Amino acid sequence: MAAKIIDGKALAAKLRSAMADEVKGLVARAVRPGLAVVLVGDDPASQIYVRNKTKALAEAGFACFDHHLPADTAEAKLLGLVAELNADRAVDGILVQLPLPKAIDSKRVLLSIDPAKDVDGFHPENLGRLLIGEPRFIACTPYGIMKLIEEAGTTVRGASAVVVGRSNIVGKPVAVLLTAADATVTVCHSKTKDLPAVIGAADILVAAIGRPEFIRGEWIKPGATVIDVGTNRLPSGKLAGDVEFAAAVLRAGAITPVPGGVGPMTITMLLANTLEAARRRAGGC
Ligand code: NDP
Repeated sequence: MAAKIIDGKALAAKLRSAMADEVKGLVARAVRPGLAVVLVGDDPASQIYVRNKTKALAEAGFACFDHHLPADTAEAKLLGLVAELNADRAVDGILVQLPLPKAIDSKRVLLSIDPAKDVDGFHPENLGRLLIGEPRFIACTPYGIMKLIEEAGTTVRGASAVVVGRSNIVGKPVAVLLTAADATVTVCHSKTKDLPAVIGAADILVAAIGRPEFIRGEWIKPGATVIDVGTNRLPSGKLAGDVEFAAAVLRAGAITPVPGGVGPMTITMLLANTLEAARRRAGGC
Protein backbone atom coordinates (compact mmCIF):
# COMPACT_ATOMS: atom_id res chain seq x y z
CA MET A 1 0.00 0.00 0.00
CA ALA A 2 1.30 3.49 -0.86
CA ALA A 3 2.40 5.67 2.04
CA LYS A 4 0.38 8.48 3.51
CA ILE A 5 1.71 11.74 2.04
CA ILE A 6 2.46 14.18 4.85
CA ASP A 7 1.24 17.44 3.37
CA GLY A 8 3.53 20.19 4.67
CA LYS A 9 1.72 22.83 2.66
CA ALA A 10 -1.66 22.03 4.22
CA LEU A 11 -0.22 21.81 7.74
CA ALA A 12 1.63 25.11 7.21
CA ALA A 13 -1.60 26.79 6.04
CA LYS A 14 -3.47 25.52 9.12
CA LEU A 15 -0.79 26.74 11.53
CA ARG A 16 -0.40 30.11 9.76
CA SER A 17 -4.14 30.72 9.88
CA ALA A 18 -4.19 30.08 13.65
CA MET A 19 -1.20 32.40 14.05
CA ALA A 20 -2.89 35.14 12.01
CA ASP A 21 -5.82 35.02 14.48
CA GLU A 22 -3.45 35.35 17.42
CA VAL A 23 -1.60 38.23 15.74
CA LYS A 24 -4.93 40.11 15.48
CA GLY A 25 -5.34 39.74 19.24
CA LEU A 26 -1.82 41.04 19.90
CA VAL A 27 -2.29 43.97 17.52
CA ALA A 28 -5.42 44.91 19.47
CA ARG A 29 -3.10 45.18 22.50
CA ALA A 30 -0.70 47.39 20.46
CA VAL A 31 1.86 44.61 19.99
CA ARG A 32 2.35 43.74 16.32
CA PRO A 33 4.88 40.88 16.03
CA GLY A 34 7.76 42.14 13.91
CA LEU A 35 10.62 40.45 12.11
CA ALA A 36 13.64 42.25 10.67
CA VAL A 37 15.00 40.48 7.59
CA VAL A 38 18.53 41.40 6.56
CA LEU A 39 19.75 40.47 3.08
CA VAL A 40 23.26 41.36 1.95
CA GLY A 41 24.02 41.12 -1.77
CA ASP A 42 22.08 39.78 -4.73
CA ASP A 43 22.28 35.99 -4.47
CA PRO A 44 19.21 34.90 -6.51
CA ALA A 45 18.29 31.95 -4.24
CA SER A 46 18.54 34.15 -1.13
CA GLN A 47 16.34 36.75 -2.78
CA ILE A 48 13.66 34.09 -3.40
CA TYR A 49 13.89 32.82 0.20
CA VAL A 50 13.57 36.35 1.56
CA ARG A 51 10.64 37.12 -0.74
CA ASN A 52 8.82 33.95 0.40
CA LYS A 53 9.44 34.78 4.04
CA THR A 54 8.27 38.39 3.80
CA LYS A 55 5.15 37.32 1.87
CA ALA A 56 4.25 34.75 4.55
CA LEU A 57 4.83 37.33 7.30
CA ALA A 58 2.63 39.93 5.62
CA GLU A 59 -0.18 37.41 4.99
CA ALA A 60 -0.27 36.51 8.70
CA GLY A 61 -0.33 40.17 9.79
CA PHE A 62 3.27 40.41 11.05
CA ALA A 63 5.32 43.56 10.57
CA CYS A 64 8.33 42.96 8.35
CA PHE A 65 11.32 45.30 8.42
CA ASP A 66 13.31 44.71 5.24
CA HIS A 67 16.99 45.65 5.10
CA HIS A 68 18.62 44.98 1.74
CA LEU A 69 22.29 45.96 1.75
CA PRO A 70 24.72 45.93 -1.19
CA ALA A 71 27.17 43.01 -1.61
CA ASP A 72 30.16 45.22 -0.74
CA THR A 73 28.73 46.21 2.68
CA ALA A 74 31.47 46.38 5.32
CA GLU A 75 31.16 43.93 8.21
CA ALA A 76 31.22 46.83 10.71
CA LYS A 77 28.21 48.40 9.00
CA LEU A 78 26.26 45.14 9.18
CA LEU A 79 27.20 44.70 12.85
CA GLY A 80 25.99 48.26 13.43
CA LEU A 81 22.63 47.46 11.84
CA VAL A 82 22.24 44.33 13.97
CA ALA A 83 23.02 46.40 17.10
CA GLU A 84 20.28 48.87 16.13
CA LEU A 85 17.79 46.05 15.54
CA ASN A 86 18.76 44.45 18.88
CA ALA A 87 17.78 47.71 20.58
CA ASP A 88 14.58 48.32 18.60
CA ARG A 89 11.48 47.46 20.69
CA ALA A 90 9.33 46.98 17.56
CA VAL A 91 11.62 44.20 16.34
CA ASP A 92 10.83 40.85 17.97
CA GLY A 93 13.04 38.74 15.73
CA ILE A 94 16.10 39.25 13.54
CA LEU A 95 16.92 37.07 10.56
CA VAL A 96 20.18 37.52 8.68
CA GLN A 97 19.84 35.58 5.44
CA LEU A 98 22.76 33.21 4.78
CA PRO A 99 25.10 32.88 3.00
CA LEU A 100 26.72 36.27 3.57
CA PRO A 101 29.34 37.62 1.15
CA LYS A 102 32.77 36.02 1.71
CA ALA A 103 34.35 39.21 3.11
CA ILE A 104 31.94 39.08 6.08
CA ASP A 105 32.50 36.73 9.02
CA SER A 106 29.09 35.01 9.28
CA LYS A 107 29.84 33.56 12.71
CA ARG A 108 30.62 37.00 14.15
CA VAL A 109 27.40 38.39 12.69
CA LEU A 110 25.24 35.54 14.02
CA LEU A 111 26.87 35.88 17.46
CA SER A 112 26.01 39.59 17.49
CA ILE A 113 22.25 38.91 17.31
CA ASP A 114 20.56 39.19 20.71
CA PRO A 115 19.75 35.52 21.56
CA ALA A 116 16.29 36.72 22.71
CA LYS A 117 15.65 37.85 19.09
CA ASP A 118 17.39 34.93 17.36
CA VAL A 119 14.22 33.45 15.84
CA ASP A 120 16.32 31.33 13.45
CA GLY A 121 17.62 29.49 16.53
CA PHE A 122 21.22 29.45 15.22
CA HIS A 123 22.88 31.35 18.09
CA PRO A 124 25.11 29.05 20.21
CA GLU A 125 23.15 30.10 23.32
CA ASN A 126 19.89 28.88 21.77
CA LEU A 127 21.48 25.67 20.45
CA GLY A 128 22.96 25.09 23.92
CA ARG A 129 19.61 25.65 25.59
CA LEU A 130 18.05 23.11 23.23
CA LEU A 131 20.75 20.62 24.17
CA ILE A 132 20.02 20.94 27.91
CA GLY A 133 16.25 20.65 27.36
CA GLU A 134 15.42 24.31 28.01
CA PRO A 135 14.78 25.62 24.49
CA ARG A 136 14.06 29.29 23.82
CA PHE A 137 13.94 29.18 20.01
CA ILE A 138 14.16 25.89 18.14
CA ALA A 139 15.79 26.19 14.70
CA CYS A 140 12.97 26.43 12.16
CA THR A 141 13.64 23.38 9.98
CA PRO A 142 14.09 20.92 12.89
CA TYR A 143 11.03 22.44 14.61
CA GLY A 144 8.99 21.94 11.41
CA ILE A 145 10.23 18.36 11.07
CA MET A 146 8.92 17.51 14.54
CA LYS A 147 5.52 19.00 13.64
CA LEU A 148 5.42 16.90 10.45
CA ILE A 149 6.20 13.71 12.40
CA GLU A 150 3.41 14.63 14.84
CA GLU A 151 1.05 15.30 11.91
CA ALA A 152 1.82 11.83 10.52
CA GLY A 153 0.54 10.34 13.79
CA THR A 154 3.86 8.56 14.33
CA THR A 155 4.73 7.39 17.83
CA VAL A 156 8.16 8.78 18.62
CA ARG A 157 8.58 7.37 22.12
CA GLY A 158 10.66 4.21 21.88
CA ALA A 159 10.98 4.41 18.09
CA SER A 160 14.28 3.86 16.30
CA ALA A 161 15.07 7.11 14.52
CA VAL A 162 17.85 7.61 11.99
CA VAL A 163 18.98 11.10 11.02
CA VAL A 164 21.22 11.25 7.95
CA GLY A 165 23.23 14.50 8.09
CA ARG A 166 24.86 16.22 11.05
CA SER A 167 24.77 19.93 10.22
CA ASN A 168 24.27 22.46 13.02
CA ILE A 169 21.09 23.76 11.41
CA VAL A 170 19.31 20.48 10.61
CA GLY A 171 20.84 17.11 11.53
CA LYS A 172 22.19 17.82 15.02
CA PRO A 173 19.15 19.74 16.36
CA VAL A 174 16.73 17.14 14.91
CA ALA A 175 18.69 14.40 16.69
CA VAL A 176 18.43 16.35 19.97
CA LEU A 177 14.68 16.89 19.54
CA LEU A 178 14.01 13.23 18.69
CA THR A 179 16.07 12.16 21.72
CA ALA A 180 14.10 14.55 23.92
CA ALA A 181 10.91 12.96 22.53
CA ASP A 182 12.21 9.53 23.69
CA ALA A 183 13.29 8.07 20.36
CA THR A 184 16.49 6.04 20.16
CA VAL A 185 18.51 8.06 17.68
CA THR A 186 21.33 7.17 15.30
CA VAL A 187 23.04 10.04 13.47
CA CYS A 188 24.65 9.15 10.13
CA HIS A 189 27.07 11.13 7.95
CA SER A 190 29.45 10.72 5.04
CA LYS A 191 31.71 8.31 6.98
CA THR A 192 28.91 6.00 8.15
CA LYS A 193 29.46 2.36 7.22
CA ASP A 194 26.65 0.38 5.60
CA LEU A 195 24.10 3.17 5.49
CA PRO A 196 21.42 0.92 3.89
CA ALA A 197 21.54 -1.44 6.91
CA VAL A 198 21.28 1.45 9.40
CA ILE A 199 18.40 3.02 7.49
CA GLY A 200 16.70 -0.38 7.18
CA ALA A 201 16.20 -0.45 10.97
CA ALA A 202 14.65 3.03 11.17
CA ASP A 203 11.02 3.52 12.23
CA ILE A 204 11.60 7.23 11.57
CA LEU A 205 14.04 8.44 8.92
CA VAL A 206 15.10 12.07 8.52
CA ALA A 207 17.20 12.67 5.40
CA ALA A 208 19.20 15.94 5.35
CA ILE A 209 22.11 15.32 3.03
CA GLY A 210 21.76 17.51 -0.06
CA ARG A 211 22.16 14.76 -2.71
CA PRO A 212 19.20 14.10 -5.03
CA GLU A 213 17.47 10.75 -4.43
CA PHE A 214 20.58 9.38 -2.69
CA ILE A 215 18.51 7.21 -0.33
CA ARG A 216 17.04 4.33 -2.30
CA GLY A 217 13.45 3.31 -1.72
CA GLU A 218 14.46 -0.32 -1.13
CA TRP A 219 16.58 0.69 1.95
CA ILE A 220 13.53 1.92 3.82
CA LYS A 221 11.90 -0.19 6.51
CA PRO A 222 8.32 -1.05 5.49
CA GLY A 223 5.91 1.27 7.32
CA ALA A 224 8.57 3.81 8.32
CA THR A 225 7.90 7.56 8.57
CA VAL A 226 10.21 9.37 6.15
CA ILE A 227 10.97 13.10 6.39
CA ASP A 228 12.88 14.31 3.36
CA VAL A 229 14.65 17.60 4.06
CA GLY A 230 16.72 17.58 0.87
CA THR A 231 16.09 20.44 -1.53
CA ASN A 232 18.12 19.73 -4.64
CA ARG A 233 17.72 21.65 -7.87
CA LEU A 234 18.05 19.27 -10.85
CA PRO A 235 19.46 20.42 -14.22
CA SER A 236 15.87 20.35 -15.51
CA GLY A 237 15.01 23.02 -12.94
CA LYS A 238 12.80 20.63 -10.94
CA LEU A 239 13.34 20.09 -7.21
CA ALA A 240 14.25 16.66 -5.85
CA GLY A 241 14.59 15.41 -2.31
CA ASP A 242 17.32 13.22 -0.83
CA VAL A 243 15.03 10.17 -0.98
CA GLU A 244 14.04 8.22 -4.09
CA PHE A 245 10.40 9.20 -3.68
CA ALA A 246 8.75 6.98 -6.34
CA ALA A 247 10.14 3.79 -4.74
CA ALA A 248 10.05 5.00 -1.12
CA VAL A 249 6.35 5.86 -1.27
CA LEU A 250 5.61 2.18 -1.94
CA ARG A 251 7.40 1.01 1.26
CA ALA A 252 7.05 3.84 3.79
CA GLY A 253 4.05 4.30 6.07
CA ALA A 254 4.18 8.08 5.69
CA ILE A 255 6.46 10.35 3.67
CA THR A 256 6.94 14.05 2.95
CA PRO A 257 7.04 15.18 -0.69
CA VAL A 258 9.61 17.58 -2.16
CA PRO A 259 8.46 20.25 -2.73
CA GLY A 260 5.52 20.64 -0.37
CA GLY A 261 6.88 18.90 2.74
CA VAL A 262 9.57 20.42 4.96
CA GLY A 263 10.01 23.69 3.00
CA PRO A 264 6.65 25.34 3.84
CA MET A 265 7.03 24.25 7.47
CA THR A 266 10.44 25.92 7.82
CA ILE A 267 8.94 29.33 7.03
CA THR A 268 5.94 28.60 9.24
CA MET A 269 8.13 27.89 12.25
CA LEU A 270 9.97 31.17 11.63
CA LEU A 271 6.59 32.86 12.07
CA ALA A 272 5.93 30.72 15.16
CA ASN A 273 9.23 31.77 16.75
CA THR A 274 8.61 35.45 15.97
CA LEU A 275 5.13 35.17 17.45
CA GLU A 276 6.60 33.56 20.57
CA ALA A 277 9.05 36.47 20.93
CA ALA A 278 6.15 38.95 20.57
CA ARG A 279 4.14 37.06 23.20
CA ARG A 280 7.05 37.54 25.59
CA ARG A 281 7.12 41.27 24.76
CA ALA A 282 3.37 41.49 25.38
CA GLY A 283 3.83 39.64 28.67
CA GLY A 284 6.52 42.11 29.66
CA CYS A 285 9.40 39.62 29.90
P1 NDP B 1 25.12 20.24 4.95
O1 NDP B 1 25.83 20.23 3.65
O2 NDP B 1 25.53 21.23 6.00
O3 NDP B 1 25.21 18.79 5.60
C1 NDP B 1 25.04 17.64 4.84
C2 NDP B 1 25.22 16.42 5.70
O4 NDP B 1 25.02 15.27 4.89
C3 NDP B 1 26.62 16.32 6.32
O5 NDP B 1 26.53 15.98 7.69
C4 NDP B 1 27.28 15.21 5.52
O6 NDP B 1 28.19 14.40 6.24
C5 NDP B 1 26.07 14.35 5.14
N1 NDP B 1 26.38 13.57 3.95
C6 NDP B 1 26.90 14.00 2.78
N2 NDP B 1 27.07 12.97 1.94
C7 NDP B 1 26.67 11.85 2.60
C8 NDP B 1 26.64 10.48 2.28
N3 NDP B 1 27.07 10.03 1.09
N4 NDP B 1 26.14 9.62 3.19
C9 NDP B 1 25.72 10.07 4.39
N5 NDP B 1 25.73 11.37 4.76
C10 NDP B 1 26.21 12.25 3.87
O7 NDP B 1 23.58 20.37 4.60
P2 NDP B 1 22.32 20.96 5.41
O8 NDP B 1 22.09 20.19 6.65
O9 NDP B 1 22.42 22.43 5.48
O10 NDP B 1 21.16 20.64 4.35
C11 NDP B 1 20.87 19.33 3.93
C12 NDP B 1 19.80 19.37 2.84
O11 NDP B 1 18.62 19.94 3.38
C13 NDP B 1 20.14 20.25 1.63
O12 NDP B 1 19.56 19.68 0.47
C14 NDP B 1 19.47 21.56 1.94
O13 NDP B 1 19.14 22.29 0.76
C15 NDP B 1 18.22 21.06 2.62
N6 NDP B 1 17.62 22.04 3.52
C16 NDP B 1 16.30 22.29 3.35
C17 NDP B 1 15.65 23.18 4.17
C18 NDP B 1 14.19 23.42 3.99
O14 NDP B 1 13.64 24.29 4.58
N7 NDP B 1 13.49 22.63 3.18
C19 NDP B 1 16.36 23.92 5.22
C20 NDP B 1 17.75 23.53 5.37
C21 NDP B 1 18.35 22.63 4.53
P3 NDP B 1 29.60 14.99 6.83
O15 NDP B 1 29.21 15.75 8.05
O16 NDP B 1 30.38 13.76 7.12
O17 NDP B 1 30.18 15.84 5.76
